[in-house]
Amino acid sequence: MMTEVKSKGTWLHRFAIRFFTLLLAVLIFWVLGFLIEDIRSIRGPDYAAIEKSHVDKNLIAKRDTLEKQVANLTRQIVNQTEKQRVVGDSSRNLQQTINQLLELQKLGMQKNIAFSDTEQANFTTSLNLFLDNQKKYQELSQTVSDMLEKKQGLVQEKDQTEQQIDKQRQPARDEYNILSQRHRLKLAFLQLAILLPILVVAAGVIIRKRSSIYFPIYLAFGAATLVKVVLVVHEYFPIKYFKYILIGGLLLVVARLLVYFIRTIAFPRKQWLVRQYREAYERFLCPVCEYPIRIGPRRFLFWTRRTVNKVVVPGNRGYQEEQYTCPSCGSGLFEECSSCHKVRHAMLPNCSYCGAEKEIK
Ligand SMILES: [Zn+2]
Ligand SMILES: [Zn+2]
Repeated sequence: MMTEVKSKGTWLHRFAIRFFTLLLAVLIFWVLGFLIEDIRSIRGPDYAAIEKSHVDKNLIAKRDTLEKQVANLTRQIVNQTEKQRVVGDSSRNLQQTINQLLELQKLGMQKNIAFSDTEQANFTTSLNLFLDNQKKYQELSQTVSDMLEKKQGLVQEKDQTEQQIDKQRQPARDEYNILSQRHRLKLAFLQLAILLPILVVAAGVIIRKRSSIYFPIYLAFGAATLVKVVLVVHEYFPIKYFKYILIGGLLLVVARLLVYFIRTIAFPRKQWLVRQYREAYERFLCPVCEYPIRIGPRRFLFWTRRTVNKVVVPGNRGYQEEQYTCPSCGSGLFEECSSCHKVRHAMLPNCSYCGAEKEIK
């Protein structure tokens, strides 16, 4: 049989084959990735569009206007407060001046010096200015307080509008979630629709060509596809489903392997059968029941699988080959060749004289 003499090659060759198998698998994985990438880039639902169809446009406009008004008012309040601060500073300065003038007047009165007209005028001007300032300060305070009140009202109104918008947004969000989920499933099915047929083909080729010399190529192809499929399934299906898919896949693989090994034992494949027969013939044992094949010089000896090489075989004294049947199980072990009519091994494929081939069952 061909497979029995198959060369294993040097260490380097075997390493090269493994390395290139791996490389091929990586490249195939990559190519599959490109295929998948195009599917992934299909656009999903647009949230902005969905929201537009659910939320009242006027509410949004109202919210925006209110927002602008509040910002405007805030700016004005800051300006007014700044003005108020400046007026306050000015008032404090005037107050100091008036205090100094009063102090001077007091000193003058003690020394009986009268307040001059200029001094009197200065004092009056300062006092008027001070009172004016105070009035302005009060007015500014009132304005700021009015503005604050107005701002509070606006903010409250804006919050209410915001709440209304949020209420209208909820169905939009729900719809978006449903659409997104549907989109993801669609992507997953599209990807699997491409990957699964490839995987089926790969599995078929691997099973059918498992004894081919090009097996590593098919193996790389199958392994790369399988990894891609597992990754896609893992990405798109929730863990609770992925668990079942994974265990289902494992069950299938394990069951298939079990069936394979059971069948191998129950119905041995031809090459294994021939190998088993060959080893038995080499030890002069019946391939079926292991009873010694006692022909020629071994006619009066006895041996087993372990002792066969220790038995001293007497020299060949005019031994003639003849047909032989196992006395123990009745299997024909040496028979007449249908082609050259000499004696041949009954359970090996070829006649040792003419090479004629026969089918081994
Ligand atoms: Zn036998
Ligand atoms: Zn023959």
